[in-house]
This record gives sequence, structure tokens and C-alpha cells, in this order.
Amino acid sequence: MSRYRLQPTPAQEAALLEHCGHARYVWNLAVEQHAHWRPGLKSAPGFAEQCRQLSEARAEFGWLRAGSVIVQQQALKDFAQALANFFAGTHRRPRWRRRGRGEGFRIVAVKAGDVRRLSRNVGEVRVPKVGWVRFRWSRAVPEGVKSYRITRDAAGRWHVAFAAIPEPLPGPGTGEVIGVDRGVSVSAALSTGELLNAPTPRDGEKSRLRRLLRRLARAKRGSNRRGRVKTAIARLKAREVDRRKDWIEKTSTDLARRFDVIAVEDLKIGNMTRSAKGTVEAPGRNVRQKAGLNRGILTAGWGRLVERLEQKAAGRVRKINPRYTSQTCNACKHIARKSRESQALFLCVACGWRDNADVNAAKNVRDTAAGHAVAARGGPPLGEPANREPQHDLLPVG
Ligand SMILES: [Zn+2]
Repeated sequence: MSRYRLQPTPAQEAALLEHCGHARYVWNLAVEQHAHWRPGLKSAPGFAEQCRQLSEARAEFGWLRAGSVIVQQQALKDFAQALANFFAGTHRRPRWRRRGRGEGFRIVAVKAGDVRRLSRNVGEVRVPKVGWVRFRWSRAVPEGVKSYRITRDAAGRWHVAFAAIPEPLPGPGTGEVIGVDRGVSVSAALSTGELLNAPTPRDGEKSRLRRLLRRLARAKRGSNRRGRVKTAIARLKAREVDRRKDWIEKTSTDLARRFDVIAVEDLKIGNMTRSAKGTVEAPGRNVRQKAGLNRGILTAGWGRLVERLEQKAAGRVRKINPRYTSQTCNACKHIARKSRESQALFLCVACGWRDNADVNAAKNVRDTAAGHAVAARGGPPLGEPANREPQHDLLPVG
């Protein structure tokens, strides 16, 4: 995703706002439909059923029919994705949207000629029912744009973000398998022993953010000053998010080029969430603690890294059941929780093998992908929690 400042004319702005209104209306209807749903009840309408209902609503209401069906359908799709994220435990439950806050809509099925450059600094994008809208060509627009999202921030500024699915890259052809472990003390560990760190906010940025937050707390609600402080905070955070996204792009490209098979853990984040919540009869243990953990995973860019790997190393990514990968000695295959000396160190209680804990896990991920059983012998009783929850936000991506 690369974001550009959109420069609509006043008339275009009115039309864009209309799209936003439709997207918000459809989204909120979907939120309502699901608001009363509880586990055990017959499921609330899914995406296909909601699309059918949308067609009915469009037939009935002229004002809805006057809008773009793509905008409205994509709002349902966004909702379906938000709900899936919620059930996967990576995001909060989708909530009601208010006018003027987080406004936006998405356009799909973008054709090659729908984005074009007018001059060095000016481009334009074709928006259904709005026409050609100019934007600031502040950096290269990715090749093969498939969709874009148009948003309006709290300050009333419009942006367009283009999404293109990256082209698959060729592997080196050596047959080499790499194991990648979502690290605890680093962002990701490779079975080669490399430790990868996603960029974190710089000290100067941290203190600037603290200052801005203090200023925000003192600013009067609705004041211009408050608006300015909020914008400054948003800008600071956006820069941080950009840097991490950049890191994910570079890292995924690097891995896709260097290795033929990339093995990653198939993190059943959803299962973890469900077990954290438990059921009415048997409420989960450590619910509060795990709620914090899930927020950590929410911000984790791990999912995005894996997604990018699957696109760039198309057909060359293996997802491995992560069970025991952190507790198994890569040298002798003995499984023991106690071998996980600390977050950082693996020290086998059976053979004395010692390694960086995340690298040891990455090697197990690699070996499993290469067809060697990791949980070969021994092993803790079923259900014993694997001690590999991240202690802080890893690869956070906003
Ligand atoms: Zn061992």
C-alpha cells in the first residue's frame, strides 16, 4: 500500500463524501446484524447473504441505487474481513462507524488505464461515479494496481492508497529450505542463525510522542490546537508504520530470493484466542493476560510478513504446526519445557545442546518442512502451554 494525497475539486469532494456515507451506512447495517449474535446461536448472515440483501435494498431505495455498487459491496467485504479478524483474535469486534471518523471506501477491479500520470507531480485516478480525481504523485505508483482505498482523515484531508499484489519472485533453485520463527526477543529468527529486527520507534520519536500526548491531554476538546496536536501524532505514527511496512517488504523479498522453500509457523491465533476466553462453563485462565497478548499479536506484522511471503514466494511457503517447535531440542529431538531456559536461551535438559531459543525453534520449523518429524519422542502432556508467547509487541504494523 502506498498512500498519496488526493486533491478533489469541491464538486468531487461532495461525491466522494456520498460514497463514504454509503459505505458507512452499509457497514453499520452489517454491524447491527451481528450485534445480537452470540456463540451457539444460528449464525448471522454472511457475506453472500448480505450481498443479496444489499441488492434488495438497492432495488428498494433510490438513494442507495444512485451510489456505486462496488463501494457498497466492498464495505460488506471489509466487514466480513473485520469479522474474520475478530474471530481470529487479531482485531477487536467491528464497531459502529460515525460520520467524520475513519471515513473511506474501496474500489476494486481497477483497470490498467484507471491510474495515470499527468505531470511530474500530478496523477489522476478514475473513481466510479466521480470521474478523474487528481492526486499528488509523491512517489512511484506500484505496477499492476488491483484496488485502491480512498480515505478522509479527521482533518478533512483525502488520500488514496493503491494496492497491488506483488509479482512472485524466482527462488535460487538450490532447493534450500529456510525455517523462520516468529521470535520473542527478536522479530524473527532464521534457521541460518540470523536474527531479524523490525524497526522500532527512535528515542527522539518516543519522547516527541510523549510530549504530544501531554499536550493533547491539556488541549480543549474541539479546539483548533487539539486538532493540530492530533494531526502531529497521526503523522508520527504513520511514519513509524511506514518504516515497519518497508521492513516487511524488504525482508520478504530477501527471503523469497534467497531460499527455495520457506517454512513458517502456522500460528493458530484463533485457537489461542478462543482458549483464552474459554466458555461460559469453563472460563479461560489468564484471560486478562492473554487479552493483552492478543493485542500484541494484533499489532504484530507477522501475518503481513507471511502474506507477503506467500505472494512473493508463491507456492514455496510451507506452514508448519508450531506445536513443540520451541520446546524440542534440534540436536537430539528431546522435548521438554524446561529446556527453554529463558526467552532467549535454549538449553537441552537431555543432551546439553545450547542455542538461541528462537533459532532453535526456526531450525525445528525448517526440519519439519523438510520432512523430519520434530515431536519424535517424549513430549509434554497434551495441552501444556508452549512457552512462546511474545512478551512485547513484535513487528507492530498499524
Ligand atoms: Zn538435546
